[in-house]
Amino acid sequence: MREIGHFIGGKHVAGKSGRSSNVFNPATGEVQATLALAGVEEIRAAVANAREVQPKWAATNPQRRARVFFRFVELLNKHMDELATLLSSEHGKTVEDSKGDLVRGLEVCEFVCGIPHLQKGEFTEGAGPAIDMYSMRQPVGIGAGITPFNFPAMIPMWMFAPAIACGNAFILKPSERDPSVPLRLAELMIEAGLPAGILNVVNGDKAAVDAILTDPDIGAVTFVGSTPIARYVYGTAAMNGKRAQCFGGAKNHMIIMPDADMDQAVNALMGAGYGSAGERCMAISVAVPVGEETANRLVDALTPKIESLRIGPYTDEKADMGPLVTKEAYARVNGLIDRGVEQGAKLVVDGRGFKLQGYEDGYFVGGSLFDHVTPDMDIYKTEIFGPVLSVVRAHNYEEALSLPMKHEYGNGVAIYTRDGDAARDFAARINIGMVGINVPIPVPLAYHSFGGWKASSFGDLNQHGMDSIKFWTRTKTVTARWPSGIKDGAEFVMPTMK
Ligand code: NAD
Repeated sequence: MREIGHFIGGKHVAGKSGRSSNVFNPATGEVQATLALAGVEEIRAAVANAREVQPKWAATNPQRRARVFFRFVELLNKHMDELATLLSSEHGKTVEDSKGDLVRGLEVCEFVCGIPHLQKGEFTEGAGPAIDMYSMRQPVGIGAGITPFNFPAMIPMWMFAPAIACGNAFILKPSERDPSVPLRLAELMIEAGLPAGILNVVNGDKAAVDAILTDPDIGAVTFVGSTPIARYVYGTAAMNGKRAQCFGGAKNHMIIMPDADMDQAVNALMGAGYGSAGERCMAISVAVPVGEETANRLVDALTPKIESLRIGPYTDEKADMGPLVTKEAYARVNGLIDRGVEQGAKLVVDGRGFKLQGYEDGYFVGGSLFDHVTPDMDIYKTEIFGPVLSVVRAHNYEEALSLPMKHEYGNGVAIYTRDGDAARDFAARINIGMVGINVPIPVPLAYHSFGGWKASSFGDLNQHGMDSIKFWTRTKTVTARWPSGIKDGAEFVMPTMK
């Protein structure tokens, strides 16, 4: 059995805590590796090592730091097929979808190739009598990132690329479900020229996370995962004096106005609802058609498409979607479908009991569709994180708008319409962080920032874009006057520019 350990100080190291968990192949249910789970000692060792090497990295000219990322991007492209296949083998999503996961991370690495410009400070000549003032963006020191299973390449790169480009050292604690790609990324960063100890991957569970949150030498923590853990990590990190940004779960709605192009809306819902088996924080899980006629047309058009989804293991190149990530996820999603039926929603397409010949022990759930869902039902309130779409019928635009507005989560939302007035009003009034107008998954590109509102995000700076440069640096402002500009005598009054 393959044993997966950690990557500390530029080397693979075996676990020392004696604790481990299993890494499964979600298509077959087989255990394919065991994963070492770090304890406090291993986190402390990684941090101690990072502390030694970080000052030299921070003092490295920003062009030289950027060049590591130029080379890393080349290596990612060169190893794309190998990385995508490895990712799919642990996550279960299709290989093409894994390439999307990698490329979205790669784009953040491309963005930070501009670090000499992005990290530049500000300067004011003559801010006072013979006084110049300048501010610098200095690295926080040591940062840590805790990532979810669903994007094991993109989300680690969202985090470590800006952190490292800004001159920090980084401790990455990936998901226990699919740890192999994060370890490969760390190896490739060394091959790209990153000094050993600047990027460390320490595998583990709550014990490792708690060691990170209480470590006195870690200055900033970034987290992506479910809302209860995001809330916990944010509170604990803040209580321990750390800067934190924590991103949580979602329930993304798509509003379909009566004037929308129905073919476009249906295709968008298929990709955004069922791609990656619905295991995306930006997946659309609620469709809100406006008016009975729109709703009937939508459900009639979706039904045959959902019934004919091609579901398969990652080795099936033609598959639209793969299995769920774990047995627990499989049981949870099936349980929520049962609950939707019990609470009176109409199950139009039932994905329970889906079995794939030769893969009977895989965690496959068929595409499912509920109609006549109401806001009081558990399937509406809960993030299902599976291939289940709920249709909530709205009588008019205001009622449709009020649904995502009142929902606990505020990650993404979309509207399909040809009416510019409706689209503009929607974008202005909605209380959600990422909005799509005829775009179902409005994930911002690397040079804009990614983040939700409400229970989808804790903290005030987003992932990537300029927010990430702010998160990974501290501003220091210097006020300078040379002796020739200093007047004689002591000044006791608060200096002003009066
Ligand atoms: P998760 O919350 O179970 O795990 C995320 C990380 O937290 C993992 O590294 C895990 O080891 C750690 N963790 C788990 N339990 C912990 C505990 N009790 N204490 C401390 N750490 C703990 O999430 P997941 O199932 O891996 O990922 C799916 C979730 O992530 C979904 O809710 C999804 O919406 C969310 N997500 C959000 C975004 C976003 O940007 N908002 C992006 C991707 C995924």
